[in-house]
Amino acid sequence: MGTREALGSERNPLRVAIVGSGPGGFYAAQALFRADIAVRIDMLDRLPTPFGLVRGGVAPDHPKIKEASLVYEAIAETPEFTFFGNVTVGRDVGVEELRNTHHAVIFACGAEVDRELGIPGEDLPASHTATEFVGWYNGHPDYRERVFDLSCETAVVIGQGNVAADVARILAMPVDDLKHTDIAEHALLVLAESRLREIHVVGRRGPAQAKFTTAELRELGEIAECDPVLDEAVLALNPESRAEVEDKRGKVAAKNFGLFEGFASRPAATGRRRLHFDFLESPTELVGKGRLEGVVLARNRLRGEPFAQVAEATGESRVLPCGIVFRSIGYRGVPIPGVPFDDRRGIFPHRDGRLVDGDDILPGFYAAGWIKRGPSGIIGTNKPDAGATVKGLLEDIPHMVGGARAGGEGLQKLLAERGVRRVSYGDWRKIDAAEVARGKARAKPREKFTTIEEMLAVLD
Ligand code: NAP
Repeated sequence: MGTREALGSERNPLRVAIVGSGPGGFYAAQALFRADIAVRIDMLDRLPTPFGLVRGGVAPDHPKIKEASLVYEAIAETPEFTFFGNVTVGRDVGVEELRNTHHAVIFACGAEVDRELGIPGEDLPASHTATEFVGWYNGHPDYRERVFDLSCETAVVIGQGNVAADVARILAMPVDDLKHTDIAEHALLVLAESRLREIHVVGRRGPAQAKFTTAELRELGEIAECDPVLDEAVLALNPESRAEVEDKRGKVAAKNFGLFEGFASRPAATGRRRLHFDFLESPTELVGKGRLEGVVLARNRLRGEPFAQVAEATGESRVLPCGIVFRSIGYRGVPIPGVPFDDRRGIFPHRDGRLVDGDDILPGFYAAGWIKRGPSGIIGTNKPDAGATVKGLLEDIPHMVGGARAGGEGLQKLLAERGVRRVSYGDWRKIDAAEVARGKARAKPREKFTTIEEMLAVLD
């Protein structure tokens, strides 16, 4: 192949490695395929299974949201696309090696760990992160062995975003409403034995600042045999919060506030479980001798201008007795050796999607999705986000060292030399079919394999 062929022509296609096969990665691939150039995409994932958060994060009772993967499947079937599952970048292949085999590398590796509260007692047994719980009920291999003791009466979820809503809903739902979803069987068995009666979802600010989207909050009021509970007094908003819900920027807050008002005016609770919305409280300590017995919650007031109000401690506090805690206060990315990391924000530092080291742009390295902008937005938010990164990448083509690259073949050679067992997209389709077949017996859309060994065994 002549190296003088223009980069992006059929004889010298643009070769892009995408690290991560979740929404950010697939929308980057889609944007590249829509560009008016010849391109080959090699997508790597540390798991043998693609789709990232759509498989391992979206709640099992939200099958509609999972349908995003139909779009990703169509992209993956494109002849110019190759999947490299079960390959860990930074271990099995280095980032510089990828930059040698490809013209550009897009990191779309998401935000895989939780932010920390940084308070005493955070590491007590029975204090868990949302990541662990979500990964566990979704059958993610990293979290398969986690143990959640639901033999207590009260659980506390810290945070009032959509992840907290997922955690609270899965804890509160009757198990019958989950058993025909793709929830992992091990989780179903534990949830079936749950003795939880009271689930508290605690926010550091008020009902006008809760981060739930409206559909997700509405669902929390519609769980069978579970009553939403909140103290009517918190609905007396301060003038700044009132201004927020009356402003057009506060549309979601206004709708959410209406739902909270509805919850507060419901007749006395009669269900098997209660879902409490606690506002204006910050956890300052998790207490217990050897195991968790309660959360110390400091009372807050709001201070600041509308839309910029922060929680400020009033000096009062209480202990909320509980047997299990889930911390759901946002996610962070995980560093990859050889890639700069912004430790404060938990993202890869970048300018318009181009990775930077201090003030210097790192040619050939890009970011998309949560590792670029932090853990915000819904799945669809990643489409314009990845599109913007790809736009920059395409603009950079004239400045790229344009010689032909070994691409996926070169990568495959490196992996073979190292004895790395790569999982192809065809392999994944076999794993997928086996999961669907396992699910049939239980009237579930699929029964996921929850260890990498089981997945690879399907291929042997
Ligand atoms: P999030 O929406 O940012 O919510 C984080 C929550 O944690 C907020 O209530 C925040 O309060 C609170 N928090 C942060 N730091 C805290 C601290 N130190 N002490 C106490 N509370 C603290 O994040 P998320 O729930 O992890 O969700 C991540 C993204 O995924 C969001 O964009 C979400 O919409 C999306 N998602 C969507 C769905 C869906 O569409 N069904 C499902 C799951 C997730 P403040 O507001 O005061 O900071």
